[in-house]
Amino acid sequence: MATLSQNPASTRSNTGAGSGGPSGFPTLPIELDHLTHNYGNRQALDNLSFAVHPAEIFGLLGPNGSGKTTLFRILSTLMVPTGGSARILGFDAAREPNKVRQQTGIVFQAKSVDLKLTVAENLKHQGHLYGLSGQQLKARIKEVLGRVGLSDRAGEYVESLSGGMQRRVELAKGLIHSPSVLLLDEPSTGLDPGARRDLWQYLRMLRDEEGVSILVTTHLMEEAEHCDRLAILNEGKLVALGSPLELKSSIGGDVVLFETEGDEAATRLAARMADRFQVQPVVLGRTVRLERRDGHRFVTGVVEAFPGEIEGISVAKPSLEDVFIQRTGHRFWTEVKEEK
Ligand code: ADP
Repeated sequence: MATLSQNPASTRSNTGAGSGGPSGFPTLPIELDHLTHNYGNRQALDNLSFAVHPAEIFGLLGPNGSGKTTLFRILSTLMVPTGGSARILGFDAAREPNKVRQQTGIVFQAKSVDLKLTVAENLKHQGHLYGLSGQQLKARIKEVLGRVGLSDRAGEYVESLSGGMQRRVELAKGLIHSPSVLLLDEPSTGLDPGARRDLWQYLRMLRDEEGVSILVTTHLMEEAEHCDRLAILNEGKLVALGSPLELKSSIGGDVVLFETEGDEAATRLAARMADRFQVQPVVLGRTVRLERRDGHRFVTGVVEAFPGEIEGISVAKPSLEDVFIQRTGHRFWTEVKEEK
């Protein structure tokens, strides 16, 4: 099989700390510039421009069909975009894929480990793909297994490991060539809560101790909360960018939900509320939603004004889902079936 790198990175040349790159100018780990992708008539990515900063964990959050996989494939050099560019440490993913691959570790959602081989054998084969061999590879396997907490499992068959450990072997594979940028597609899928916690602990350690810049795709709000910054996508468009806290604080005050007996009742209630209180509620099925600084006081006023029309009430601090609803006008989860 072809060697991906003629110049294996046993020491990281671009640390992701913003120096180096093809032009010698400071570079960003990941930079999208008007990135667009169409599948025939369907636009999967619509003019995306944003950057991942050095040594941050960056989340790409979006519901099904929002374009995460398409963007992941472009960054992994598996697909060429229709327009614009995606650069990794200054190298264009479409025009310089080999340079991009040298700098990038990729952990796909689907299993890529060989279950019938030992942990060390899996890593050895991966190392060979990147031009590593001999003592250098041996040392790197040892180092990387230490990094993911599997030093004592090197000789075990992967099939005998738990799901969480197998995911850590995937992570070790992605790290074997000391990449500065790590891409992970839905890394928590299929992991139990304990294994998820472990995985995030390893990601934070890579960020803090090795300066690795990490991009994670996810459709899970809890996972997005762990990221330093997020890009929220909807139907291929960037709808929000910032830290989870910044995004949630962008919603002023409380999020108030009124449950009604059905969709029509909700529409009626929203119209009457808008009229009476000069507010602009959004109807989400049988729920009427709005944002208020004085959530609790407002609720009392509404209940008194419309007795018998409200079946349930909640007043809560904004969540990332609220950010999504505010920016798109609809819920994160819809029942629309995506056709691929
Ligand atoms: P996500 O990973 O967020 O679910 P995708 O990148 O898979 O989103 O999909 C984005 C859009 O592109 C969706 O509308 C999807 O149906 C469409 N799409 C994805 N892959 C293909 C394909 N191979 N051919 C045609 N349309 C596709």
